[in-house]
Amino acid sequence: MPAWLLHDGRVVPRRPRRLLREQDEAITSAQLVDQVNAVPGRPAQTPKQVASILQVLRWTKTARGDTQKRKCWKITNSRDAHMRAFGYKQLMGFLATLERQRAWYPGVYDRPALFQCAKCGHSPETQEHVHECADHAAVRSQFAGSFRMLQPEETAPYNIGGLRPWATLGQLQGRIHPDWEAAIPTLPTCPSRCTRTASTAATIQQLLRASLEAWYLVIWLPRCQRTIEQEQRSGLHQGAKLRRMRAPRHSVADAPPSRRDAAEHAKGAADECTGVGRDADGRVHSRSR
Ligand SMILES: [Zn+2]
Repeated sequence: MPAWLLHDGRVVPRRPRRLLREQDEAITSAQLVDQVNAVPGRPAQTPKQVASILQVLRWTKTARGDTQKRKCWKITNSRDAHMRAFGYKQLMGFLATLERQRAWYPGVYDRPALFQCAKCGHSPETQEHVHECADHAAVRSQFAGSFRMLQPEETAPYNIGGLRPWATLGQLQGRIHPDWEAAIPTLPTCPSRCTRTASTAATIQQLLRASLEAWYLVIWLPRCQRTIEQEQRSGLHQGAKLRRMRAPRHSVADAPPSRRDAAEHAKGAADECTGVGRDADGRVHSRSR
């Protein structure tokens, strides 16, 4: 990082440089808010809420198993990187569901045995359906357990049994529920030596993190395991699948622009496949820094 910055060929002094950077960041975050709100059928999020969601995505688990909430992007580990990538894709509606795989790789996902839900046979397998088809008892227990672990020791934990945040995971897809802000201060607390409760903003972040952990660990990973097994039963093995996804389409140059875009997508996206083959066999995701 140079000590000075060139802008239009001139050295920009310190203060304007900061202004430029802040302007850049504001533009980037405004675009992110638009992208998050462009996904249809989800509750709209304010810029402040989106900032809060992105902050929670940067939290990291330490070796001791607790969650570090500050300045952790430098000590991130591969497990966080997978969950974080999952969180971003979920938010933007880009999870590698079978609905998306079929749209992006129609030559590979070319029959119902490959693109229907591996658990119930439903098609299309959307992000909402992945939640509908999950083991809801396991989701509730993971959510409650994650939330409990995220409570700071010096606060009395809220009892979220009445709020039932695990029930709206499919609709929210990583977002903040519009009712949480008003509901949190009215929640009962669990018996505790502490009398102080966490702030509403902190509690919203704990709910977001518990949502992310429940989604990734007990909804997405088991779903991907089932999907990989379904593909193997249908004769589509991981190696062959990646080769076919990467293969250039026939006569791409003559194809209409949408086909060409899809082919370019395929090149970049092949390594994410279901996003999980790699988790299952433990290989490190090369894209994470
Ligand atoms: Zn299903």
